Amino acid sequence: MIEVPEMIAESGGTTLDLCYQCGTCSGTCPWNLVRDFRVRDILTRAQLGLEGYEGEDLWMCATCNACVDRCPQGVEIVDLVRTIRMLIAETGAAPKTLRAVLGSVQSNGNPWSGDAEARMGWAQGQPVRLFDGTPEYAFFTCCTQAYDPRNAKVIRATAKVLDAGGVSYGFVGGGEWCCGDAVRKTGAETGFGRLAAHNIGVLNDLGVRRLLVPSPHCLNTFKKEYPDLGGKWEVTHVVELLRDLVRGGRLALKNAVPAKAVYHDPCYLGRNNGVYDAPRDVLHAVPGLELMEFARTREEAVCCGGGGGRLWMEAPVEERFAVLKLREAVAMGADTVVTACPYCISMFEDAKTALGLDQVRVADVVEIVAEALQAH
Ligand code: SF4
Ligand code: SF4
Repeated sequence: MIEVPEMIAESGGTTLDLCYQCGTCSGTCPWNLVRDFRVRDILTRAQLGLEGYEGEDLWMCATCNACVDRCPQGVEIVDLVRTIRMLIAETGAAPKTLRAVLGSVQSNGNPWSGDAEARMGWAQGQPVRLFDGTPEYAFFTCCTQAYDPRNAKVIRATAKVLDAGGVSYGFVGGGEWCCGDAVRKTGAETGFGRLAAHNIGVLNDLGVRRLLVPSPHCLNTFKKEYPDLGGKWEVTHVVELLRDLVRGGRLALKNAVPAKAVYHDPCYLGRNNGVYDAPRDVLHAVPGLELMEFARTREEAVCCGGGGGRLWMEAPVEERFAVLKLREAVAMGADTVVTACPYCISMFEDAKTALGLDQVRVADVVEIVAEALQAH
């Protein structure tokens, strides 16, 4: 009979045997800011064949990658966690909320139980151009921006800013499905493969060469996971393009946006893809905005808590990373938390509601830029 460590190796988790139990990963994990959680123990259970393990703490990992960066042995901890999730999920042990989300992805092509036909509904009559093979960029809308009303405001602002910058782009017209990032990270490998095959077909049929994405999760998945499956395009996050537009003088940021703003690094934009300067460069160009930094920032940034399927899972208020960060922002005198990820926006908006912090604003970089462009 095939052993668990071999099954993990066959599934791509090739580094389990490198772990020598030093515990650095557990010490790095942001969960330990709020409660005891040792990811090393999960790896130990896997080394021992997952005997008697039912995945009690397995779905806590937000796949923030902080531990991966610190592991002295180069163990791909997130890949291992997702592979162990895949094995445990086969026994039906995945959390109920996640099963509902995965059910929606299966039937609607998105995790938000949104009608697949209504994927472009976010535009609300705003004129938008659809990609027909001609523009330079095809814009792949994140499901969270397409279906979550708060994040739909960000995508509407994005369209206005790109138009103002004269960008040649068109939206993939609604036939796309979820990129599958969170689906794969929860261990649903078959579901991910189905999404990827569909999207690769849609994008290749449209003749896409360059993809523009608003979500770091889409960025990471298209850049690092689709190529192995045959999906190869040049992928750019919106904030990288904004930085180029500002540098090139194509966006006149003339209006003051008075704010004491602190920038939160999304894990999949910063740690996973090295995009730290672009959002800061854009914010520095906004008149009236003072940019502050969290105590732990850039490579050391604390996750919002929304990756790896955690966006759809409950945590007590006192155990939410976004709550910790919002409190830190207030303590340092910030009145605005800015970020560049739909998941982070949702997690911070939820934290703001939970804490009743009406005076603090949560904003995407692109919303700040849209305000700096507006004619008064
Ligand atoms: S940091 Fe790396 S080597 Fe150390 S316990 Fe964690 S996975 Fe193992
Ligand atoms: S990826 Fe992040 S949340 Fe997951 S175990 Fe590592 S440090 Fe903790």
